[in-house]
Amino acid sequence: MSVQGTILVLDGVSTNRIMLKVQLTAAWYHVVQGEKVTGLAALLRRTRPDLVLTAQSLPDGSAADVKKIMAADPILADVPIVAIAPQNDKAARLQALSDGLDDVLGYPFKDTLLLARVRSLLRARVDRQELSIKENSQSIGFGEPAQAALAPPAIAQIALLTQTPRAGALWSKMLANQTRHRLTSHTLPDLKAVLSGATPDAIVVELGPHASGCSVLADLRARGATRNTVLIGILPDENAGLAAEALDRGVDAVCMAGFNVDEIALRLETQIARKTRDDRLRASLRQGLSESLIDPLTGLHNRRYAMRALDQIAHQALETGRGFAVMLADLDHFKAINDRFGHAAGDLVLTETARRLRTATNQSGFVARIGGEEFMIGLPDTAPQQALRQADVICDSICQTPFNLPDHATSIPVTISVGVKLCTPPDLTWRDEASPVNRLIRSADKALYAAKKAGRNQVHIRQSAA
Ligand code: GH3
Ligand code: MG
Ligand code: MG
Repeated sequence: MSVQGTILVLDGVSTNRIMLKVQLTAAWYHVVQGEKVTGLAALLRRTRPDLVLTAQSLPDGSAADVKKIMAADPILADVPIVAIAPQNDKAARLQALSDGLDDVLGYPFKDTLLLARVRSLLRARVDRQELSIKENSQSIGFGEPAQAALAPPAIAQIALLTQTPRAGALWSKMLANQTRHRLTSHTLPDLKAVLSGATPDAIVVELGPHASGCSVLADLRARGATRNTVLIGILPDENAGLAAEALDRGVDAVCMAGFNVDEIALRLETQIARKTRDDRLRASLRQGLSESLIDPLTGLHNRRYAMRALDQIAHQALETGRGFAVMLADLDHFKAINDRFGHAAGDLVLTETARRLRTATNQSGFVARIGGEEFMIGLPDTAPQQALRQADVICDSICQTPFNLPDHATSIPVTISVGVKLCTPPDLTWRDEASPVNRLIRSADKALYAAKKAGRNQVHIRQSAA
């Protein structure tokens, strides 16, 4: 199996298939062949292609039938399909795009264009697969319902970036009749204007002659704001070399032979719908990621976050040579609060404790709830005296003001015990272990245990290496 991916070539004419096979195999793709719609489902299941190149017209059907069969199978639904149609058959081209195919190549085409188109579609597919894998692997089920993912996009913002103001005015006028999306028009040197307002969902860029406009494409792809913006390149003529270059620089689609408004409207519609789906996946992924690191009751970070953050603090300290501290703080006799006032009151004590800890450590470190009534505080760049003062502030912040409970007339006294592990430059080496985190936590835990044993509501410290 080739590392580049598997491409299914579908064509009723064997010489066409062989020619494509030769071109693609030379570029290290694995090529499988088919000639008609009949039996296609079985062939697809067997070969699992990463991309399908199909003749627009097959002996027993068309590229649209291929699309229908693949769209019905969840495993194949996002495999890109490129139709091959006669060079100047504009109607066939529009038909293929409105049937939902990813692109149409006019036959005969240059090797460079074919390979650039294949590369760009496969690259986009890998990006999308990574997004889906990450989203599916999230542990809790907050994924959006399938229906929402399929909903048509709202009104999108489209920027037209042309060589001259005249072309911009003309394109705007033509496109305004064909799209419900909002249009703005700018000239190429005025890229700043495009980027100064809200980021457009799609940018249509006029390319050429002489490759002008191409450098803008790489620039737009590299910028954080426009990294995921749909980019469509418009070429003045059938310039395969320029089209290939534009695809390699990151455009999602190229339209050759000028501003064909029907084709551009169609392409914008499919590309914006695709972007909307990808944006939703990304947003859901971001939300899942932050939820997986936050404790839902208190809004503090959770144990998973704390372990990573502490590891990072320890490794940074190794580089800077400056000390740091880790503290474990555990509410005293919390079980008695639950028993006396109920679990809901216990929860309120936990959220109020979280609020006070956050205020008390109002600096660069982190506060996490790592267990029922146990909290971890990590303080980077902290000298021993500073850390001790901080631990006292934490202890006082809980015991000095009794906690109010909504259903109780009197406020209740609450205390916390704190174990501190100080790490100063001499013990900042841990050559035999990948991460010192577990050892540090064990040390802080021993200090906490000592604080409990000595009567609670106090701070104990460990400074030794173990
Ligand atoms: P110590 O001073 O030795 O720490 O005693 P303690 O009572 O605080 O400790 P213990 O470990 O005996 O009890 C902790 C209690 O915390 C038991 C458990 O029911 C309660 N708890 C754990 N998670 C939660 C929670 O999310 N909400 C509430 N309300 N209680 C919780
Ligand atoms: Mg406790
Ligand atoms: Mg405890």
